[in-house]
Amino acid sequence: GLTDQTAAIALENEHAAHNYHPLAVVVASGDGAWVTDINGKRYLDCLAAYSAVNFGHSNPVLLDAARAQLGRITLTSRAFHNDQLGPFVTALARLAGKDMVLPMNTGAEAVESGIKVARAWGYRVKGVAAGMANIIVAGGNFHGRTTTIISFSDDDSARADFGPFTPGFRTVPYGDAAALEAAIDENTVAVLIEPIQGEAGIVVPPADYLPAVREITTRHNVLFIADEIQSGLGRTGATFAVELAGVVPDLYLLGKALGGGIVPVSAVVGNADILGVLRPGEHGSTFGGNPLAAAVGLAVVNMLATGEYQQRAQDLGAHLHERLLGLVGHGVLEVRGAGLWAGIDIDPALASGRAVCEALMERGVLAKDTHGSTIRLAPPLVVSAEDLDWAVDQLAAVLEEF
Ligand code: PLP
Repeated sequence: GLTDQTAAIALENEHAAHNYHPLAVVVASGDGAWVTDINGKRYLDCLAAYSAVNFGHSNPVLLDAARAQLGRITLTSRAFHNDQLGPFVTALARLAGKDMVLPMNTGAEAVESGIKVARAWGYRVKGVAAGMANIIVAGGNFHGRTTTIISFSDDDSARADFGPFTPGFRTVPYGDAAALEAAIDENTVAVLIEPIQGEAGIVVPPADYLPAVREITTRHNVLFIADEIQSGLGRTGATFAVELAGVVPDLYLLGKALGGGIVPVSAVVGNADILGVLRPGEHGSTFGGNPLAAAVGLAVVNMLATGEYQQRAQDLGAHLHERLLGLVGHGVLEVRGAGLWAGIDIDPALASGRAVCEALMERGVLAKDTHGSTIRLAPPLVVSAEDLDWAVDQLAAVLEEF
């Protein structure tokens, strides 16, 4: 492999599209919460691939599940049955307290699938007039990058020059239940929100927001779709972030950690009165529900079923937030989050989020900025308390240097 970092980055830049602006680190391997670059320097991974690596790099249980399945069969397509899909969807439905799973691959596909299911449910079950369905979304949302999904983004850099856009979406301010209710009409089929907004900067809504969304959607016969692609599967100290508010949505959208950081696995999870609207031939994916994905996904669900990872996220998260709050007034304006998930607003007078992340990288901590001056921490849930303390020490030192 490559050992010259500058050459490695130049090679990537020459032939890979420039749709990202990565930090100047070239990762070659990973173990648990740590990764190693091509020169052998180690870094604590405080991003965990945007929460796709919740169970750590090279997790031995997940690698075993993948290796075992690699030696059997990896892809059948759903033209045929495979012996892994049944156990996976059964376990995932049970974990979510629902009875049906629609398996896909990426998060954006789960969102697209949830939108299609909600529309079909609207026409076939709710009785919305043909072509009239609308879905209510929140300002500041991030649900992925497809043309339909960016149609209801309010982030200019995600939309510019990518139109025309898909109609049928209404945006209301996040956290404002009254505005959400006011936007509902007889053609509203769903409310689609992140229980905690990830890319927006780990934005936690007011405590009464999600219960109000549940009450309003139930009263108006509108589906509540929770995009738990980043917030779900242990990150916040619960299996699903909605649990923290005592709320059960109609549909869960899952992805990222569902594939254990090994393969892309996503899903829409709900009850048969909703997901059952899909009929053979109406929706699909060549790779969705493939046996390798199902084997890894089942191993992920089994890990979550013990509650061990959720507990770690809760305990370590409480410690992390306590330490981070100590930085407020020392270069930090605000800290938000839940469990092992934190959005830290850096005082823009001091430094940009990017500059802080670059300085952290020099000290061996990998984190990612968002929206200019926010940095987000989302280490693998296998991280140790000592490593977390060390990472916060590095952040404190970086802020002192500016
Ligand atoms: N939904 C949420 C809440 C996300 O955070 C993301 C990715 O960051 C997505 C959807 C899209 O997932 P993917 O990048 O796998 O398409």
